[in-house]
Amino acid sequence: MKNIKEYNLNELQEEMLALGEKKYRAEQIFKWIYVDKVKDFDEMTNLSIELREKLKKEYTMCNFKILKKQEASDGTKKYLFDVLDGNAIESVLMEYHHGKTICVSSQIGCKMGCKFCASTGIKFVRSLSCGEIVEQVLAVEQDTGDKISNVVFMGIGEPFDNYDNVMKAIKILNNQKGLNIGARHISISTSGLVPMIYKFADEDLQCTLSISLHACNDEKRSSMMPINNRYNIEELMKACKYYIEKTNKRISFEYALAKDNNDNLDDAKELVKLLKGMLCHVNLIPINKIENGSYVKSTNENIIKFRDYLNDCGIVATIRRELGSDIDAACGQLRRKSLKEE
Ligand code: SAH
Repeated sequence: MKNIKEYNLNELQEEMLALGEKKYRAEQIFKWIYVDKVKDFDEMTNLSIELREKLKKEYTMCNFKILKKQEASDGTKKYLFDVLDGNAIESVLMEYHHGKTICVSSQIGCKMGCKFCASTGIKFVRSLSCGEIVEQVLAVEQDTGDKISNVVFMGIGEPFDNYDNVMKAIKILNNQKGLNIGARHISISTSGLVPMIYKFADEDLQCTLSISLHACNDEKRSSMMPINNRYNIEELMKACKYYIEKTNKRISFEYALAKDNNDNLDDAKELVKLLKGMLCHVNLIPINKIENGSYVKSTNENIIKFRDYLNDCGIVATIRRELGSDIDAACGQLRRKSLKEE
């Protein structure tokens, strides 16, 4: 059966016409799903019973089941969702002063193999469809009653390895007649799939692009992130410069600090050399130790020194606040869990 959440409004109009229905039905359905947030066709009371029955035969509402929900002491909520085919994914809701931010997954598992990330070592199953990405936002809004204002593609998976579905999900999230989340409030994080950075630059979207950099020379970056063997730092920076030139938008570079690995002053100097003069911002993440992982968090002193050095050299750097760490919901800690593992 088709998932009704795979369609943007214009496509839903086509669907209705193909069903022999009037075009305006699409707008009614779209509103029920994304504004009223109903979970069942039977709740769409301005549609005839016949139409509701027809819809039920053709489409599923793809309502994720909450397998588990954990709340951290800072209010961060982590959800484990059943995506209705026996697989499970995680999404995290965080509270910032500027509103609620959801961290969504883009794939079930991840192929990138970053050495410090908890998604590594778990079998890659498949990419999520655009409807399944959108459903994470809807399911959390339905559960909490909150309006989500920001979406970050920083959960499980590599969004640029699922490019088309992620782009389509963004368009649905954007739709003013639906969830109405502005592109400026959406961030995509990539480990550095260079061809997709060029493609994304040409999309002319207002989303924020984050690049997981984590190291400034090829030897170190390749030891942390296998993707660097495919696209090295030089190629990555060339793509980033193209993006900035094309969009005139600032890139956010993510740099997870691991003790005695990439956190000393020489690393900071290399980073300054690499980023000097670029329209960018550096997001320093105290690395979260994962089970059996060899990287350990830098000391607070080193993190602050690192930040101050960058700032003194004219590179804007901030330290990311660690949310949800007591429920393994912090950066890089999300992993696919099945009921069997619980
Ligand atoms: N695949 C994408 C998005 C998912 S990860 C990417 O690589 O960008 C979101 C961010 O968390 C990335 O910057 C990633 O490098 C970072 N991250 C992963 N594991 C981490 C860990 N253990 N500690 C801190 N940050 C981590």
